[in-house]
Amino acid sequence: MHLMFHAQDPVIASVAGHDTAIPVRRVFCVGRNYAAHAREMGKDPDREPPFFFTKWSETVVPTGSTIPYPMATDDYHWEIELVAVVGKPGIRISASDALDHIVGYAVGLDMTRRDLQATAKEMGRPWDIGKNVVQSAPLSIIHLVEDVGHIDKGRIWLEVNGETKQDGDVADLIWSVAEVIEHLSGLYRLEEGDLIYTGTPAGVGPAKPGDRLLGHVQGLTDLDITIGSPEA
Ligand code: MN
Repeated sequence: MHLMFHAQDPVIASVAGHDTAIPVRRVFCVGRNYAAHAREMGKDPDREPPFFFTKWSETVVPTGSTIPYPMATDDYHWEIELVAVVGKPGIRISASDALDHIVGYAVGLDMTRRDLQATAKEMGRPWDIGKNVVQSAPLSIIHLVEDVGHIDKGRIWLEVNGETKQDGDVADLIWSVAEVIEHLSGLYRLEEGDLIYTGTPAGVGPAKPGDRLLGHVQGLTDLDITIGSPEA
């Protein structure tokens, strides 16, 4: 039987130093996972259990991309994040086993229509329209654990037009990557190719068309993204 419509192409993420690539399955994001960012968002950074939201895989775009300034916002924020790549499926994974399920790491941006997210929070509505936005999950090339080990500390920072706007350390995650996987795999069966955006340090702010966002995590390859024209 032929398909009535063109089936969506898989999103393929590049892998550094190997003749392979990773098909992206799903995108999970952790909310408020650095204390200083929780405070800047007006929240007490108590160690309440981690919470999650999701983006479509099609929001993932590679480094070097120019992404549109999306419609329906006047406050499109950057959030630099460490991304963990799931390489082995599982449910109810304990934190002590969790790192075995990660195949690699990358640098990501969780771009956010902050004004729509803020309204959603006020009204007790889902965050989807604030977070699950066109091309809102830029991703650097992935480095495999076999090459770089596990990333549990090291500087994470974002430059916007050459000026450092976010500057933190992965060691300051409220919930470590292993603990995030323990919680998330109690909610969903994790699958190969799932991406986990692990949260952003303080210093989020509004991008504008023409801005160049250069994201870094110590030990990984930079993520280089330009904000393009308003979506049309
Ligand atoms: Mn985020």
